[in-house]
Amino acid sequence: MALYVYKFGGTSVGSVERIKSVAEKVKKAHDLGDQIVVVLSAMSGETNRLIDLAKEMQSQPTARELDVLISTGEQVTVALLSMALHQLGCDATSYTGGQVRILTDSVHTKARIREIDDAKMRADLNDRKVVVVAGFQGVDEFGDITTLGRGGSDTSAVALAAALKADECHIYTDVDGVYTTDPRVEPKARRLDHITFEEMLEMASLGSKVLQIRSVEFAGKYNVALRVLSSFQEGCGTLITYEDSQMESALISGIAFNRDEAKLTITGVPDLPGVAHKILGPIADANIEVDMIVQNIADDASTDFTFTVHRNEYLRAKTILEQTCSELGARKVTGDDTIVKVSIVGVGMRSHAGIASTMFKTLADEGINIRMIATSEIKISVVVDEKYLELAVRALHSAFELDKTIEAL
Ligand code: ASP
Ligand code: MG
Repeated sequence: MALYVYKFGGTSVGSVERIKSVAEKVKKAHDLGDQIVVVLSAMSGETNRLIDLAKEMQSQPTARELDVLISTGEQVTVALLSMALHQLGCDATSYTGGQVRILTDSVHTKARIREIDDAKMRADLNDRKVVVVAGFQGVDEFGDITTLGRGGSDTSAVALAAALKADECHIYTDVDGVYTTDPRVEPKARRLDHITFEEMLEMASLGSKVLQIRSVEFAGKYNVALRVLSSFQEGCGTLITYEDSQMESALISGIAFNRDEAKLTITGVPDLPGVAHKILGPIADANIEVDMIVQNIADDASTDFTFTVHRNEYLRAKTILEQTCSELGARKVTGDDTIVKVSIVGVGMRSHAGIASTMFKTLADEGINIRMIATSEIKISVVVDEKYLELAVRALHSAFELDKTIEAL
C-alpha cells in the first residue's frame, strides 16, 4: 500500500464536470488500495477574481483581509470534491489549511510553512478515507488565515507529502509533463520521463512555468519524489528526483528561455573597491531583482559593468543607474530592453567538456550574436536579441539532439 499526495491545479477543477472527473480519478486510485491525500487549487480564474474584488474596496488591500478573502477559492473546491467523492460512494473529508493545521509564519500573502500536524490526516487515512486539503493556505500562531503566494498550492502539496512521508507527490496539471523546451517554440520538444531537482529548479527559475519554484526547492530539501502529469490524459508524466547513478543521463536535459529581460551597462566606471556595491546597492534598495552580472577586466583605471533586470523594471533601473553614473563620475549608461536569455540545462554538463563550445558554434552558424554569457555547474545562459529567440531555441534543441530519446542516440 502506497501513500500518494495528488495536487490538481485550477484548470483541473475549473468546472463542476472537471471536479467530477477528478473525483473519478481519485476514486480509481483509492480503490486500488492506496492512501490518497488530495490538495486542490481554486477554480481557474477565481483567485484573480477575488483579488480584483479586493482592489475595488481598497487600492492596496490590507494583507490580513486579503488572505481571508483569497483563501476562500480553495475552500469551495475541496468541499465540492468531497461531495463528488461521496456521490461515488467514496468516503472523503475536506479540510482548510487551518483545520489540518498547516502552521505558517505571519507574513500575509507570502507566508512560509513552519509545521504540519499530520494526526487528523493519518487517522482519516487509516479509516480508508480520502483526505482533501485546501492548497495555498495555512494558519499562523494567532489563528489568522495566511496564504503562501501565487501558485502556492504546489508548495502545499509538497509540504504535505513531506510531512506524511508520501511515496510520491503527483502534480496534475494541464500539460502532460516537463518538456525539453516549450513546444510552442519548438514543436519537436519531447516530454522528459525524468529530470533531477537541480535541473528542474534551473528550468523553473529560467522561465519554465510548469511548477512553482518554491515547491521544487521544498521537494528537493525534503527529498519528495515529484511527478508532473496531465489531469486530462493518461500517461506517466515526468518524475523529478535526485540524480540516480543507474540512470543514463543526457548531456543536456532542456532549454529554457526568458523573454522579459533587459540589460543595462555603465561604462568608464573607476576600477576601485566598493564600486560594484555602489552600482547595485541602489538597485537592490529599490527592490529591483538583478539576474546576470558581468564586469569587464579594467584596461586603464576604469571598467565596464553590465547586468540584466526584468523588462518591467528597465526604466526604473535606468533612472537609478544614471544617477549613480553621475555620482561615480562614470562615462555613460546604455541599455537594451529587446533582449532575451536562452539557457541550456543539464547535470550531464558536469562530466562533459565541450558543451559550451557546441552551444556557441550552433549560435554562430545561425548568425546569432551573443551579447552576454553566464555559466553555472549545470547551466549555460546567453543573452541574445529577442528576434533570435525562436531560432536559437530550435537550433540548440537540434544540436543537442533533444528531439531524440536517450535510447535512440
Ligand atoms: N489559487 C492560487 C493561485 O491562483 C494558488 C494556486 O493555484 O496554486 O495562485
Ligand atoms: Mg497553479
